[in-house]
Amino acid sequence: AIRVRFCPSPTGNPHVGLVRTALFNWAYARHNEGTLVFRIEDTDAARDSEESYEQLLDSMRWLGLDWDEGPETGGPHAPYRQSQRTEIYQDVARRLTEGGYAYPCYCTTEELDARREAARAAGKPSGYDGTCRELTAEQKAAYEAEGRSHIIRFRMPDEPITFTDLVRGELTFTPDNVPDYGIVRANGAPLYTLVNPVDDALMEITHVLRGEDLLSSTPRQIALYKALIELGVAKEIPAFGHLPYVMGEGNKKLSKRDPQASLNLYRERGFLPEGLLNYLSLLGWSFSADQDVFSVEDMVAKFDVADVNANPARFDLKKAEAINADHIRQLDLKTFTEACTPWLRAPHANWAPEDFDEAAWQSIAPHAQTRLTVLSDITANVDFLFLKEPVEDEASWTKAMGKGDPVALLTTARAKLETADWTSPEALKEAVLAAGEEHGLKLGKAQAPVRVAVTGRTVGLPLFESLEVLGKDRTLTRIDAALA
Ligand code: GLU
Repeated sequence: AIRVRFCPSPTGNPHVGLVRTALFNWAYARHNEGTLVFRIEDTDAARDSEESYEQLLDSMRWLGLDWDEGPETGGPHAPYRQSQRTEIYQDVARRLTEGGYAYPCYCTTEELDARREAARAAGKPSGYDGTCRELTAEQKAAYEAEGRSHIIRFRMPDEPITFTDLVRGELTFTPDNVPDYGIVRANGAPLYTLVNPVDDALMEITHVLRGEDLLSSTPRQIALYKALIELGVAKEIPAFGHLPYVMGEGNKKLSKRDPQASLNLYRERGFLPEGLLNYLSLLGWSFSADQDVFSVEDMVAKFDVADVNANPARFDLKKAEAINADHIRQLDLKTFTEACTPWLRAPHANWAPEDFDEAAWQSIAPHAQTRLTVLSDITANVDFLFLKEPVEDEASWTKAMGKGDPVALLTTARAKLETADWTSPEALKEAVLAAGEEHGLKLGKAQAPVRVAVTGRTVGLPLFESLEVLGKDRTLTRIDAALA
């Protein structure tokens, strides 16, 4: 059975790269009726935070990416927070050392730095040079007597390591490129390099799907895995697949500190989880040559890591928004109106909660649904219904009228609207059209000042539907105010 894992470190806010990794693992598990293990890699007390941990869980739930084993859910390999598994790692580290797979290294940081510099200057590989690899019991005792502390270092085999990446095909790493590396700190704290593969082994992970940034740790982990198998801790080396980098602005790697990368930004702007997941699935994968919009269920039905593309993927905000707009349009009306409610009910600078008019909102909602790219835009599109008076700035007027005369046009339009039949937007359109004709203006030009007078904005929802929902009295009052 397939067992995959999503194992973030709780540092900072969740970002889109992390979500993409979670999504691909989740989809792979669901497609294969496998198991998704959610593990929290919180072994770095200086950087991990409880707040970030809570955010990770909350984000996964918001996205609808459920896990089969992990925090709060539990499972046969609990606990799933590495900070609660220290003894397990210490035991494995001891067995690795006793078995000769790892050794205490007494080199100080200064010594390591000096030798690295010298190697660099001589054009030699600058990784760990093996000084402490074969220390005798006397040498160790002498170092201890000196009061030196030691880390535990894993002994890499002196032969190349080859594996077949699920995304990139066969890869080979030579020993020069993969020196012996630390697995336990001098203070006894186990490092990522140890705990990540140890947990993958104990949790019986079959496929490791993760970002390309972790590719360089894979040969080390494979070597460690071999040792774990010999020690009886691991059964089998998992398959590895490295998901391509995501490039942001200026074709630079999207960094987790990039504001555009923050998941919270997309939540706050009102992306739908399904819209965001749809877009993120396209970062390295494609559904079909001619279809970019699909549901997560459709994705699950088709997803295979073998189809992931090794080339860097480009993060394209416009495309993400367009896809989200499609998902908004696909909601049923009730779901859409409810989804917008948090934005409409939130405190607003220019209208009070009691000014919110549920009936007016219900009437305008179908017109808004077809036009939104993100839910947070709802406010600017419908606030004219709830404002006592729209804010009409000079810039909007200038933009609406160009060189024309808004007063003359608005006066005529007001008169025609007053006698129009207010039961159909078509009749309101006829009224404004007729007003325009009297002033030699086409409909577009004629409706612009009406829109600014009534909504305060130059763009918005279809005008005549908007006027109908706002009602005759309020519309005429606003035009009067603009003319005054
Ligand atoms: N905790 C690691 C990270 O967030 C996980 C790496 C992995 O997937 O192996 O980078």
